[in-house]
Amino acid sequence: MSDSTETPRTNFIRQIIEEDLASGKHSRIVTRFPPEPNGYLHIGHAKSIVLNFGLALSFPGSCNLRFDDTNPHKENMEFVEAIKGDVRWLGYDWDDRLYFASDYFEQLYGFAVELIRKGLAYVCDLNAEQTRDYRGTLKEPGRDSPYRVRSIEENLDLFQQMRAGEYPDGARTLRAKIDMASPNLNMRDPVLYRIRHGVVHHQTGSEWCLYPMYDFTHPISDALELVTHSLCTLEFEDHRPLYDWCIANVSVPAKPRQIEFSRLNLEYTVMSKRLLTQLVSDGHVNGWDDPRMPTVAGLRRRGFTAASIRKFCDRIGVTKSDNLVEMAMLESTIREDLDAAAPRRMAVLRPLKVVIENYPEDRKEEVTAKNHPKFEEMGTRQVPFTREIYIDRNDFAEIPPKGFKRLIPDGEVRLRNAYVIRCTDVIKDESGEIIELHATADLDTLGKNPEGRKVKGVIHWVSAADAVPARIQLYDRLFSEPQPGAGKDSFLDDMNPASLETLTGCIVERNRRLLFSPQPGVSPSCFRSYR
Ligand code: ATP
Ligand code: MG
Repeated sequence: MSDSTETPRTNFIRQIIEEDLASGKHSRIVTRFPPEPNGYLHIGHAKSIVLNFGLALSFPGSCNLRFDDTNPHKENMEFVEAIKGDVRWLGYDWDDRLYFASDYFEQLYGFAVELIRKGLAYVCDLNAEQTRDYRGTLKEPGRDSPYRVRSIEENLDLFQQMRAGEYPDGARTLRAKIDMASPNLNMRDPVLYRIRHGVVHHQTGSEWCLYPMYDFTHPISDALELVTHSLCTLEFEDHRPLYDWCIANVSVPAKPRQIEFSRLNLEYTVMSKRLLTQLVSDGHVNGWDDPRMPTVAGLRRRGFTAASIRKFCDRIGVTKSDNLVEMAMLESTIREDLDAAAPRRMAVLRPLKVVIENYPEDRKEEVTAKNHPKFEEMGTRQVPFTREIYIDRNDFAEIPPKGFKRLIPDGEVRLRNAYVIRCTDVIKDESGEIIELHATADLDTLGKNPEGRKVKGVIHWVSAADAVPARIQLYDRLFSEPQPGAGKDSFLDDMNPASLETLTGCIVERNRRLLFSPQPGVSPSCFRSYR
């Protein structure tokens, strides 16, 4: 559930709804989120979810979850379940309003028969190629199908036989009889039903071999659910006349209004389900929930919180103009969220051992570390300090670059939450690689500044005695170009070869239980591999 601190920004859809409520056109609103279960939800879907469910939370109303399942060969129950889980995780609830377009197959069939009876639909024997050919182009009107003149009786018979499975795939379609000369190609006798044998539908099994098209199914499903505002992305603008035609010509109980908004496009990623499916099935990523994927499941594993995704969706706003949102905007939303909420721990990704020579071998003291640099209320923890510790290789430089404030030979640095140390010796192997540092600690610097000098740098460390070994995966953007594939043969040409770096031999402080995400049941990827 969105919390009350999230007040959504206004937008043109909210204004339309406010007017509809003020004028008494509606006393409550009904919206719906209509995913096709042919993939996992992505951040673009999140925009639609936050919009549709968000509206139903701010106005008197409700939002349905409806699976748009008219393409059974691409759909399955794994996707249905994943989508339900993701919508819930985002914080929304459809109560008892879970629907499938396939729930309406029988009713849809009845509405198709109604259209035939009214002389508004006919069975057409043109194959797909002929149908395309007859449709004409943007410049040229289409031509009437020779089957357009079939009698109502014959159409009713043929349609019934299509349902009964008497014709093979592609042999016949049911088409709306609208206008082959319409300037809008969608209105040139669009196909309403096609034959599909041999597919087992995840909801209706083998009951049907006749499947309704999206453009027929969608408006009628909306109307049957008494949807008031049917929100979809801009590419459906040209379909709106057909949407309106369908609900105007069959006996449905409501007249929903379709309103289009621009889809979310995000830099450095792809959002088309076809391309995301390709990334998964060709093994370019490790599944739909790979932390590099723009899917809700991937973002969750990456460590995104539901609140940060909702906030991002609100920030990008809802308009009618297409644009490309900066990836940095999504990243900064989660950074803000985690910065404020995440307890801090120390981890060393590329360890370099430091032996503190003046610190007794058998001594182990607990130093106090704040869980958050700013928020005292997040408390403190005890971290063991010993003679041997690890620091990050990058925090030592034998020949320091200009401005380097961390450890150098004979230089001093503060170990976070512990002592100031001075590097006394650099130990190398035969090949000249640094394998160990020796140091002395100023034992009078725990919680206070050293006497008579300033030490600027602070570095993190982990005690060798208490270190927990870890494998850490560092994730970067999946693509190295803001618009993957632009000007290339394939979007795959722009994949970032360094999007996943796996570091082994890392160490993290023992106090790891608290490391796991505050969200129940979710362990962000960066912590997953702790053993
Ligand atoms: P694709 O075209 O890649 O198959 P889709 O948009 O058809 O994806 P659906 O499952 O049909 O995927 O989408 C469900 C809902 O989410 C639709 O209402 C759709 O408009 C909306 N949606 C999908 N992608 C975006 C996006 N990038 N931005 C905003 N809304 C989106
Ligand atoms: Mg779709």
